[in-house]
Amino acid sequence: MTAFVVDAPATPAVPVDGEGAAFPVRRILCVGRNYAAHRREMGGDDRDPPFFFAKPADAIVPPGGDPAYPPRTANLHHEIELVVALKAGGLDVPVDRALDLVFGYAVGVDLTRRDLQAAAKDKGQPWDSAKGFDGSAPISAIRRWDGAPPQGRIWLSVNGQVRQDASVADMIWNLPEIVSEASKLWRLAPGDLIFTGTPEGVGALQRGDRVEGGVEGVGELAFRIV
Ligand code: MN
Repeated sequence: MTAFVVDAPATPAVPVDGEGAAFPVRRILCVGRNYAAHRREMGGDDRDPPFFFAKPADAIVPPGGDPAYPPRTANLHHEIELVVALKAGGLDVPVDRALDLVFGYAVGVDLTRRDLQAAAKDKGQPWDSAKGFDGSAPISAIRRWDGAPPQGRIWLSVNGQVRQDASVADMIWNLPEIVSEASKLWRLAPGDLIFTGTPEGVGALQRGDRVEGGVEGVGELAFRIV
């Protein structure tokens, strides 16, 4: 047992639907521009392939938690996303083996300081403060899953009004391709979460807003911005 000079940080964890044990979060990868209509609403070129960025593991807000409106932004955006949780890892995982790594799926929101992201894009600076801030990854419980990935409706509402409503079948990189592409850049491992990108309809949130969202067959999440 290693002695540490300060208290070791707790392992962020996400509950698993219907089980007593939780899923420990090692790392959060995120896919950008994985739905064509969202790529267009963000001003992207139709030929640009999706790409990855990351959030720290402790950005997770487990079910029942309410994320705080973060400092230093006046344009906090919601992005509803299907999240894949990995039970195994590896480097250079072929597409036809990628689903072997999947523990299950959850529903997540990639909260984004859109104003800081726009400034970073203008200056060619990194996105960490726009994407990887405290409480930037609210998530539902994880549902264990075998076989073909979810293909159904993905939606998000704010104060009861539906803002995002699409199908996860519309992703540009499908689920096995996302896992395979990620494994070309990082050695994946159990505990990794991948946020798989958001469809069109992203928009601003205010303090007090009630956010609800879901992915058909996977689950739902709900929280308030406090
Ligand atoms: Mn996103």
